[in-house]
Amino acid sequence: MTVPDLFRATRALFELPDGVIYLDGNSLGPLPRAARERVAREVEKGWGSKLIRGWNEAGWIDLPVTVGNKIARLIGADAGTVVAGDSTSVNLFKVLTAALAKTERKRILTDSGNFPTDIYVAERVAAGLGQGHEVKVVAPEAVEDAIGADSGVVMLTEVDYRTGRLHDMASLTKRAHAEGALVIWDLAHSAGALPVDLKAANADFAVGCGYKYLNGGPGAPAFLYVRPDHAGRIEPLLAGWMGHYAPFAFEQHYQPAEGINRMRVGTPPILSMASLDAALDVWADVDMQAVRKRSTELTERFIAEVETRCPELELASPRDPARRGSQVSFRFGEGYAAMRALIDRGVIGDFRAPDIMRFGFTPLYVGVEDVIEAAMHLEAVMRGRLWEWAEYQRREKVT
Ligand SMILES: *Cc1c(COP(=O)(O)O)cnc(C)c1O
Repeated sequence: MTVPDLFRATRALFELPDGVIYLDGNSLGPLPRAARERVAREVEKGWGSKLIRGWNEAGWIDLPVTVGNKIARLIGADAGTVVAGDSTSVNLFKVLTAALAKTERKRILTDSGNFPTDIYVAERVAAGLGQGHEVKVVAPEAVEDAIGADSGVVMLTEVDYRTGRLHDMASLTKRAHAEGALVIWDLAHSAGALPVDLKAANADFAVGCGYKYLNGGPGAPAFLYVRPDHAGRIEPLLAGWMGHYAPFAFEQHYQPAEGINRMRVGTPPILSMASLDAALDVWADVDMQAVRKRSTELTERFIAEVETRCPELELASPRDPARRGSQVSFRFGEGYAAMRALIDRGVIGDFRAPDIMRFGFTPLYVGVEDVIEAAMHLEAVMRGRLWEWAEYQRREKVT
């Protein structure tokens, strides 16, 4: 299949409302037709008919690993090294506590571009362990130099949620290992957005999100990766029966399951898992290099269009496409209201405080025509000063 044919084919796999240009798949992916069908089937034929027999007969009990294996393919990991479940925040807690248990060092190094939840988790882990751990937060550009002999765990998000700035995973991992530190990568804005090769980078741990570029649905299960040589040695702090080596032996004390399964905790949410499982089949014939190439074309074109049409907006993303993920952000003081006005015109992006208008580009269902049309609408918002309208100024709970 040629590249345009490939993306025409993938676009047909999604249900997108008429009159909408969706540039927010980096925040919540749209509905894959297969996910709609699968959830309906799981409700009717699974929950409705099989009842509790579904755990065995419909393979529910193994879904976290089945789904994990499909994600593994997209992030350069082997089958059996990724498990789906819980949220990204909870998975970060699991891998961070596992990583800290493997080192005597007390410092968690991260950067100020990291997503707040990652930093919140780290701060509470450091305080809660009561062993003198500390979180050191430096500017994203300063991470490389800040890695040193006191770094225990380097915890980074590859693509900055605000600016789209892309860290060099391979080189930072190498540098951390040279200093004797362990590395955790958050792939929330990477998985399904660009080629990721955890194995080649030799990353120790990773976590990521199921509802962004993987299109699993609102609140879809997240995932985590553990390098195989660590997996069998972890003593999970957040232990639960689904991570026990024999959950249905109902033993009084915890003994971890083999390998990655020990990172499971409680009963998986089957309807959400099923949705994510079906959504991942969209990627079956998709080459991540082709996605990256097309995503670069789309982001380059959007920047060019917007900079010509809307001189008031200041590019907040790296100009070099090699240093950016699959999103483009612009700064504008009235960005919140301007984004609301844009959404009213059918172009959906989002806003990140204090002043970032954020646009995600997802080649599976966004084409060049969409990019140009979106830029035209943005120009109309800016020219018409539509952000001044009172109805757009009022803040909603979710931005
Ligand atoms: C979206 C995102 C999360 C979300 O965490 P949840 O626990 O799933 O709400 C975490 N980290 C990063 C970097 C994100 O972009």
